[in-house]
Order: sequence, then structure tokens, then C-alpha cells
Amino acid sequence: MPNSSTQQQIPVTLIPGDGIGPEIVDVVVRVFDALGNPFAWETQQAGVNALEKNGDLLPQTTLDSIGRTGLALKGPLSTPIGGGFRSVNVRLRETFQLYANVRPARTIVPGGRYEKIDLVLVRENLEGLYVGHEHYVPIGDDAHAVAMATGINTRAGSRRISKFAFDYAVRNNRRKVTIVHKANVLKALTGLFLETAKQVGLNYADQIEFNDRIVDACAMQLVLNPWQFDVIVSTNLFGDILSDQIAGLVGGLGMAPGANIGERAAIFEAVHGSAPDIAGKGMANPTALLLAAALMLEHKGLHGQAKFLRDAIDSVLGEESGRTADLGGSTSTSKYGDLLIERI
Ligand code: NAD
Repeated sequence: MPNSSTQQQIPVTLIPGDGIGPEIVDVVVRVFDALGNPFAWETQQAGVNALEKNGDLLPQTTLDSIGRTGLALKGPLSTPIGGGFRSVNVRLRETFQLYANVRPARTIVPGGRYEKIDLVLVRENLEGLYVGHEHYVPIGDDAHAVAMATGINTRAGSRRISKFAFDYAVRNNRRKVTIVHKANVLKALTGLFLETAKQVGLNYADQIEFNDRIVDACAMQLVLNPWQFDVIVSTNLFGDILSDQIAGLVGGLGMAPGANIGERAAIFEAVHGSAPDIAGKGMANPTALLLAAALMLEHKGLHGQAKFLRDAIDSVLGEESGRTADLGGSTSTSKYGDLLIERI
């Protein structure tokens, strides 16, 4: 369903990023050109690339662009190792108050360990143990004798993410929401989240079923019987860990897209990082970023084009000849793009 040329293009900030970022962004750009791009890309820099060019991991021009467009598609960004650098991804989330992280996982490549997986994880993106309130307590001559971290969950934040998850579930015809927590041990921090999420769930009781699971049991159940889950909503740290586990059920990080959504902006990205070990080798799998772009199409109500793109991806990956090395194939990044374009 290529776009008609009369449709006005939607401005989107495009960040190629670091490592494999430019290679996989190039595939997205070519595929969207073939689709009759509904988006007008505004290319901006961030990450180590930007640091080298502008002395800043997250230049103000990039922030201004996202502020203007309210939409970004972002390649992975490397965080330089060592002190002094805060993760750009965390700064973007905080700057634009992107409180909801949505990570769908669906089986595309047949013959893996799990078939027919179709799960969505909704993670609270701003609170919990990731607020970064950490410090050391010195004892004697050991400056790092004790490390302390504070987690912060608020009722307002827990309510906002729970409402988001239930609304998402209803809007997307999902069947169940599972609230994941550790309220038996972290009684205040995740107890508040559980209590609030259940209250929100009761408001949706006539529309959707819900239950709750302790995070460790959930991790085990995701391995034993992932089909019992549908939409999972959790706090920041647990959501981060479980979403990578869920990506593992459907073929790994190369297949996992993510959306970071706030009231005034939304940033779409692959869950994986900049993969420095394979950067520049033509081995990167662009599927996760393409699926992130499909989420962005849906976010703008372009469901037909999103489905068209997903069907083309399913068709290419359905054959071994369409798979990159991480999926056991030998197709290069750009050849994968060519195969996709042939199907559009
Ligand atoms: P990574 O996700 O970059 O790589 C982990 C492994 O998965 C590597 O072996 C890599 O080759 C493979 N892999 C990842 N994406 C792939 C793809 N599309 N196709 C094929 N194989 C793929 O994780 P890392 O090595 O721990 O991190 C590297 C850098 O990325 C770090 O600087 C980290 O801070 C950053 N990072 C950024 C993001 C982001 O921008 N959202 C997320 C995670 C990590």
C-alpha cells in the first residue's frame, strides 16, 4: 500500500546514531522511499558521532528538532564508557517525559524455540530504580565501601503507566493485562505500583481481564509458557530486564522494536544497541528498526501502511535466503533492504 503522493508528509527527526545505526537507518530510508514515504525526515546527530562533530552527545539542535516534530526515529547510540557521560537515551526520555516504553514481541521467523509468540511489554520509563539517585558511602580508606541507590515510584506515575497499558490493550484488541511487581519484598516501592495498577485495572474490568505476577515467577513462566501472557505492565527495572527476555523468545535483539511515548513527543527505536562488534561489516539486521518505524506509522494512525510493511518483512524473513547472520542466514544488511523493496 504505497502512499499516494497527495498525502502531506509528517515531519520526523531521524537520528542515524552510532555503530550499525547508519547502516540500518539507510535500509529504513530506502524502504520508506519505496513505500511512498509518509514521513519527511529531518536528519540530526546524537551519540558518539555527535560528540566527535559537535563536542556534545546530544546537541541542542537535535533536541530542538524533536521538540518541533514531536516524533523521532532513532538509531542506536553508544554510551562512552567511563565517568561523566549520562546515557543519551535516558536524557531523551527525561527531556521529553517519555513515560511509556512499549516493546512488542512477535514470532516472525518460523522454526525457533518458540512459535506464535505475540506479547507486548509496557514499561514505566521515568521512575523506579532508574532515577539515578546513587551514591557511595566511604568506610576507612575505602571510598566505595558501600553503594546505595534509591528507587522512586509515585502514585501518579504508576497510575499514568497503568492507564496507558490498559488503554493500549483495549485499543489493540488484546485479551489480558498482567501487572508485574515484587511487592512481597519491595513492599513500598513496588507495592504502591501494584496497588495503583490494580485500582486502574478495576476501571477497565468490563473491557479487559487482568492479573498480577511477581517478577521472578513471571520470568520463569515466560520461559515455560509464554503464551499465557498478552500485555505485561511493569516498573522501570523489571520492564527493562523482561523486555530483553521477551526479545529472546522471538529471535533476539535484532527483532525487537521499542516506542518511547510521552504527551508531547514519541521516539521510536530498536531495542538493541550500536553493536560495535559487527558495525561496518554489512551484517546488521535492520528488522528491529523497521518494526519500530511500523510502530511509528501506527502511532500516526497509518495502520494500512504499517500492516503492509510488516507483511513484507514477514515474507522476506519467511525464507532463509532473506535472513541476516543473527537469524542463521547470510544475507547482508543492504541485500535484505533490496529484498524488502522488491516486495513493496
Ligand atoms: P548491543 O545490543 O549493541 O549488542 C549485543 C549483541 O547483539 C552484539 O553481539 C551485537 O552484534 C548483537 N546485535 C545487536 N543488534 C543487532 C542487529 N540489529 N543485528 C545483528 N546483531 C545485533 O549491546 P552492547 O554491545 O551491550 O552495547 C553496545 C553499545 O550500545 C553500548 O555503548 C550501549 O550503551 C549502547 N546501547 C544503546 C542502546 C540504544 O541506543 N537504545 C541500547 C542498548 C545499548
